[in-house]
Amino acid sequence: MEKSILAAKTFAALRSVIKAPVTELQYTNPYELLVAVLLSAQCTDARVNLVTPALFTRFPDPHALSCVTTAEILPYIQSVTFPNNKAAHRAKLGHVLMEKHGGSIPQSVEEIEKLPGCGHKTAEVVASVAFGIPAFPVDTHVFRVSNRIGLVSGKTVKEVEVQLKALFPKSEWSEGHHLLILHGRYTCKAQNPQCTSCVLATCCAYKAQMDMLPATVVGLKPRLGAYYCADCHQYCNQFIAITDENGLEQGSCPQCGSVHLHHTKTGKTAMKIRDFRV
Ligand code: SF4
Repeated sequence: MEKSILAAKTFAALRSVIKAPVTELQYTNPYELLVAVLLSAQCTDARVNLVTPALFTRFPDPHALSCVTTAEILPYIQSVTFPNNKAAHRAKLGHVLMEKHGGSIPQSVEEIEKLPGCGHKTAEVVASVAFGIPAFPVDTHVFRVSNRIGLVSGKTVKEVEVQLKALFPKSEWSEGHHLLILHGRYTCKAQNPQCTSCVLATCCAYKAQMDMLPATVVGLKPRLGAYYCADCHQYCNQFIAITDENGLEQGSCPQCGSVHLHHTKTGKTAMKIRDFRV
């Protein structure tokens, strides 16, 4: 399927099931959004939303944040991931916002990126959500989902961002970012994608590859070996590692060289497909 057709189908299908493609972080102004996005690095939005009400009451603006030490911030964010680092960055953030930006949040991706603790993704999220600037931030969900569907073929976050921005019109970037995040969070999960109930099941490249994997074999005998070769019908305890045409390491049968090995305990195929988890 042509990428542009797949892109249109993907967003149409996701719009039909995701009625409110917006951030799940709770905030009331750009300052709160910036702090919440920074706290959400490698942490869930739900966890961040538990700590921000008290944090924003105690430190309601950049000025309040600039007057405190790391130790004073730490108790408010103790339950998010990497609290020490994040507390240290928040204290510096208050100073920089007061000294360089007069207590306001800068509105361009380039300026936000220069703030303490801010990377490109954070800057794109804040610029897009708070100020309506077209951006397509790529987080772990966007990276995984867009690769799985086949919208992009990117090994790095930067590659995926460039390809997504080329594929969709600017007017759809911000909405698309949220559609892909929410789809990844609730349906196309990293460990256990819900393909059978997914609205993209008929056009998803990953699902098509999954469907082509050999079916589970029943009645195998684990006492004869950890693996069973479906081609030569021999059991073995170790396979020979080979790299397939997609660069993935596969196990091959030491007797006949076939990659059609099955785990004898489960009967499931030992063949792998690229998963795009980061
Ligand atoms: S079909 Fe499966 S892999 Fe593809 S987008 Fe849906 S949940 Fe993800």
